[in-house]
Amino acid sequence: MKVYINGKFYSKEDAKVSVFDHGLLYGDGVFEGIRSYSRLVFKLKEHIDRLFESAHAIMLDIPLNKEQLIKATIQTLKENKLNDAYIRMIVTRGEGDLGLDPRKCKGNSTVIIITDKIALYSKELYRKGMEIITVATMRNSHEALNPQMKCLNYLNNIMAKIEAVQLGYEEALMLNDQGYVAECTGDNIFIVNKGELYTPPEIMGVLRGVTRDTVLEIAKKNKIPTHEHVFTRHELYISDECFLTGTAAEIIPVVMVDGRVIGSGKPGKITLSLMNKFKELTKKEGVRY
Ligand code: PMP
Repeated sequence: MKVYINGKFYSKEDAKVSVFDHGLLYGDGVFEGIRSYSRLVFKLKEHIDRLFESAHAIMLDIPLNKEQLIKATIQTLKENKLNDAYIRMIVTRGEGDLGLDPRKCKGNSTVIIITDKIALYSKELYRKGMEIITVATMRNSHEALNPQMKCLNYLNNIMAKIEAVQLGYEEALMLNDQGYVAECTGDNIFIVNKGELYTPPEIMGVLRGVTRDTVLEIAKKNKIPTHEHVFTRHELYISDECFLTGTAAEIIPVVMVDGRVIGSGKPGKITLSLMNKFKELTKKEGVRY
């Protein structure tokens, strides 16, 4: 495996950053998770745009422009001879001192691109649907650390994940500080009610997922009404269908939430149709390498 760090390739063993990098010391940095299918990088532009938005929000200069970053990504994929890959793009504040002042890292930001395989959940889970549970850890308030930024500090999500795993579940449902449904630890959430699609708006404390946007797009094209709308756990419990979306998870059906069976207890018709259409899209859309 070859890892890209600041324009050079390193073997996995030698791919290292300084212990003084503020990405490590403070989670000061941003990242993206991207995927390629049969040598097509899916929604690369959208991911790069979001990376630059996250970086802008934390006043982090990315030493490459968007085009250069796209080139570096393609180069890394080619270097690793991967047809299907999960791409992790990271930009850290870089090396500084032990204080958290980012000015000390000026000009040191580090760009890392890792390409590898990923299989988040078993095939069976996609067939049968997953069971999730609401956890006590609430999603970061947008006034504290806005979930719309994909920053390196993922402890909020990790705390929720730990709770779910402790309780024997693979994924946690996170509510925001007002008790409305926000998202899961690494995925957005959708429900289907009377043939219409609902997902919480960004302001509820969710990352605007690229997969979420893609699902909304597919639904609109197929005349399924979509709503970016606030909802509580009650609407979720009484929904006809539920599923999660994310680059790594793609679209995964949810059949039980907090012990309540969702709909028929099996992946729903609209969910299955969206899963198929999403798969089709990944086969034909993307940046070729
Ligand atoms: N929410 C969170 C907290 C995430 O980490 C992710 C994965 N990046 C998502 C939602 C889904 O976003 P995307 O579809 O862009 O992968």
